Amino acid sequence: MKEPLQDIRRALLEADVSLPVVRKLVGSIAEKAVGTGVIRGVRPDQQLVKVVYDELISLMGGQAAHIEFSGTPPTVILMAGLQGVGKTTACGKLALYMKKKGKSCMLVATDIYRPAAIEQLITLGKQVEVPVFEAGTELSPVEIAKRGLKEAKEKGTDVLIVDTAGRLQVDATMMDELKQMKKVLNPNEVLLVVDAMTGQEAAALVSAFNLEVGITGAIMTKVDGDSRGGAALSVQEVSGKPIKFVGEGEGMNALELFYPDRMASRILGMGDVLSFVEKAQESMMKEDAEDMQKKIMEAKYDFNDYLKQLNALARMGSMGGVLKLIPGMNKVTPQQIREAERSLSIAEAMINAMTPEEREDPELLAKSPVRRKRVATESGRTEAQVGQLISQLYQMRAQMKNLAARMQDGKMPGLED
Ligand code: GDP
Repeated sequence: MKEPLQDIRRALLEADVSLPVVRKLVGSIAEKAVGTGVIRGVRPDQQLVKVVYDELISLMGGQAAHIEFSGTPPTVILMAGLQGVGKTTACGKLALYMKKKGKSCMLVATDIYRPAAIEQLITLGKQVEVPVFEAGTELSPVEIAKRGLKEAKEKGTDVLIVDTAGRLQVDATMMDELKQMKKVLNPNEVLLVVDAMTGQEAAALVSAFNLEVGITGAIMTKVDGDSRGGAALSVQEVSGKPIKFVGEGEGMNALELFYPDRMASRILGMGDVLSFVEKAQESMMKEDAEDMQKKIMEAKYDFNDYLKQLNALARMGSMGGVLKLIPGMNKVTPQQIREAERSLSIAEAMINAMTPEEREDPELLAKSPVRRKRVATESGRTEAQVGQLISQLYQMRAQMKNLAARMQDGKMPGLED
């Protein structure tokens, strides 16, 4: 366990997960992994990756989290975050999201320090066809928010989204303003907008906003960039609050609910947490290949081997998006995996219905219609399908023979062949 855990630790740090989060994560992974029964046919280190993957998902809240709507409208969403993280853009995206859900929506512009920010929100509002409440730069942000809320109530608007002023860094004035706004608005949601590129610093940032203002969740923006996603882990861990949405582009449509499993795949894929699986996979393939080579030389490839190969391919699919991120595994197309999974389920039943002798010696089946019929009946397949399976095996054997001849000519095929 020690070495793979060390690998995981290093890889998580490389994926920009903050150190305290990494420590906690590795601790709980070790706890969960030790004493877990190893599944037959899966190497312990591969299984460990599954433990890591599941732990990442649970650390990010497990399930997708939704907006809490208020019983009496409007549902008020207060947006917080530093300057440049994509807060104003997120306001527009969220408004469009609500509209698509059939909710009427209103935006409020309170960034009196940057008239350009007010203009930006008005432009976005026009784009998504949602009214924007603004009162220039003369009134205080709290006063503007109060008036916006009043207007939304009068109009019977379902959702009120309040954009606020950001700063380049966390500062007391910004926090005070947010606190006051929270007091007058009594929002259903306080969403902190976090830039995915923030990396390790996200932990401190989320912590500061949560302690000072109190958040109900986060929106992670710029997930379309090449950030490693580590920041996403910090949010829930540091604040106990989920990420609710992710921004995946500059367009107003680029907002999606946050799915922890997708982010876990990304974190695993971006760091090299999976590199040791790759190593494990390589060595597993080598063992299999050596075993196979022996069979080829002895021309003994049988149904047991066939089943093993199908299983190996199908197993690659069982972890969905995760394994396709492994370098070297990306030559296997999703379609090949799906096909393997399909033919596996068909072939498996038939092979299981064979006697051990039949599995090792396909001749027995090839020669006996009675045996073929029995296999078909027992596996719930047709005799034609059993016939197909047998000819597939013979085809494989023929290919193996060719391969063996090539090998005897001194041309050893590489593992990647
Ligand atoms: P604010 O200062 O926090 O209000 O940030 P803005 O909403 O003005 O966004 C800052 C920049 O980030 C703009 O150029 C946006 O187009 C861009 N942006 C915002 N969200 C995303 C996103 O999800 N992906 C990408 N690629 N760019 C984004």
